[in-house]
Formats: sequence, structure tokens, C-alpha cells
Amino acid sequence: MPRMTTDEIRRTVGRFPRVDLIHLPTPVRKLENLTAALGGPSIYIKRDDLTGLAFGGNKSRKLEFIVRDMLDKRADVVITWASLQSNWCMQTAAAARKFGLKPVLVLFRTSDLEPGYDGNLLLDYILDAEIRIREAPGGKVVKSGQAMGILEEAAAEVRAQGLRPYLVPVGGSLPRGDMDKPLGAISYVNAFAEMMTQMESAGVRVDAVVHSTGSGGTQAGLAVGAKALSDHCRVVGISVSDPQGPFSRDVVEIARATDDALGLGLDFGPDDAIVFDEYIRDGYGVVDREVAEVIRFVFEREGIVLDPVYTAKAAAGMIDLIKKGYFRKTDNVVFFHTGGTPALFPYRDRIVEFLSKK
Ligand SMILES: *Cc1c(COP(=O)(O)O)cnc(C)c1O
Repeated sequence: MPRMTTDEIRRTVGRFPRVDLIHLPTPVRKLENLTAALGGPSIYIKRDDLTGLAFGGNKSRKLEFIVRDMLDKRADVVITWASLQSNWCMQTAAAARKFGLKPVLVLFRTSDLEPGYDGNLLLDYILDAEIRIREAPGGKVVKSGQAMGILEEAAAEVRAQGLRPYLVPVGGSLPRGDMDKPLGAISYVNAFAEMMTQMESAGVRVDAVVHSTGSGGTQAGLAVGAKALSDHCRVVGISVSDPQGPFSRDVVEIARATDDALGLGLDFGPDDAIVFDEYIRDGYGVVDREVAEVIRFVFEREGIVLDPVYTAKAAAGMIDLIKKGYFRKTDNVVFFHTGGTPALFPYRDRIVEFLSKK
């Protein structure tokens, strides 16, 4: 038996204050053509790419809670970091500007993308964010430990101007910096409850949720929601950057912190963090033929655009798992579209290269 009802979860999350930033609930639809093309399971999509802040995405759900915390802590400037074409940084900059804070973004170059004003970087520029571009050591995605030093430098400069900085970790996931609660993950507990309400009213039992996972907050929140509201729903994260072992530990850490913050008293172990890392393929942000073909496959059949860094890799993973028989044909699988579409355009050359030759 599920431990709680969707109303109880939504009331519990409702005790955490948030700003009004996005359009909820995001729609859920069955992907009839994709389901038919693959011969089952039944595939549904939760459109978190349609949240409405800038071009939408999972980060805007998180930011409703995180921006409230920034305002409560009387911050003037928000400082964060991620990769050059980061959705998180662009969404943070957009939310910060709307609420009168100045965004400072430390952007690391991880792939061979040029730092031209395109995709999210163009949007950061239009928002007049302060942009500091750095080379990522070894071209690898930069972790909290490495980045916090650079962020502290920026924070000291802000303080010297008599302003108050708010340091927030990549993705708004791990409770670090000035974000002392896992506010991003808390927003995804709510997202799971929202999706369950929609699926219950459509009379559909949910057997699995599949999504792209990067800094772990989305997965941790969904996993907490699943544990509270379902006795069998699996939450499957398709990693775009980190290997399964260390990454599952991050997800479990965030899930436990989320459970504590909400006072749910659930118990989280490594089995609750299902992560597949084989779809990272050539690395974070590296587009190959399969990624390009999946973007075309889904766009042609459903009119839905995936991004090459996150959602296309997650869709490629889901389709491969379906082909390998990981799901039953009678299962109902919900794919969370987590956004990221502005990052399609900076990858134009590689996408055209792979789609033009057969
Ligand atoms: C950040 C991001 C993710 C991963 O979410 P996390 O909470 O960082 O794991 C997935 N998809 C898109 C488009 C993202 O921008």
C-alpha cells in the first residue's frame, strides 16, 4: 500500500514557501505514435518543458522554492555555476532578474562547443547576466568541491561592494552554499504527486518514470514521491554525466535530506536510486549519431522537440531499455520531458552532419 495520498504530499510540500513563477500543472499526454512504433509499453509524457519560464524545464520548478529562499535571505546577487550551455544557469538568471536579483554565472567549457552567443549563452547575454567563462579541468563536468572555491571568490567581490550574495549549487540539487535544504528536490516530490493525480484521474496505473538525470535533485524528488505514493513505481534515471556508483550516492543523499525536510520518515537506500550510465556514451554534451536520430524519431512522430544534452539521451536510454525487455508490454511508463530545448541550436553542425549521411 502507498504510504500517503497525493493530497497529503501536496499539503506537506505546501508548507514550504515559494514564488509564483511557472504554469502548473504541466500537461501529460500519451505518446500514441511512439508507443505504436515500439510495440508497447504505453508511453506517456509529462511536459515539464512547458513550465513557461523562458523556454521551460525542470529547473524552473526548483526555482520557485529557491528564489523564495533567496528573497527570504535578503540576497541581492545570485551566484551559481555549470557548463557553458547550462539550462540551470539560464533559468536561474531569468528567475533572478524577474525578482530583482543580479545573476553571476560561472560557466565551464566541457565539450568542444565554442563560447559563441547562441542557445542558453545568448539568453544569458540578453538577460545581462555577469558571465565568467572558465575551462573545465580535463573537460569533465565540474563538481561542487572544485567550483565552490571559484564561487567564493565571486562572493567576496560582491560583499566588497556592500551587497549580499546567495551561492547556489549546480542544478539546485545538493544542499550546499546558501541553500541549506534540498529545495530543488522538494519541488520534484510535488511534481510526482501532480503527475500521479493526473494519471489517477485518467484511470492509468503508473509503473515507471524515466527521466534524464544530471545533478540528482530531480531524481531524488521523484524517488521520494514514488516511495510515498506508490508501492511499485520505479524511477529510472538516465545519467548524462556521472558514473552510476558515485552518482547514486548523491541521489540517496539528496533523497534522505528531502525526506528529513518534509518529515516523511521514509527509508532510502541505494536500491531506490536506479541509474543507467551507459547512455552517457562519449561524454556530457557530446552528440553522436544515435542522439541526432532520436531527436528526429520523436520530433517526426510526436511533434515534440528533445534537446541533445539531456532529454535525447534519456529517450535513447528508454527506447533501448524497451528493446531489451526492461519493461513489460502492459506497463505504463511516464517520460518526464525536463526541458533544455535552447541547447539544440548550438549543436546544429553535429546534428546536420549525422542526419545528412545515412
Ligand atoms: C538539469 C537538467 C536535467 C537533470 O536534472 P537534475 O536535477 O540536475 O538531475 C535534465 N534535463 C534537463 C533539460 C536539465 O536541464
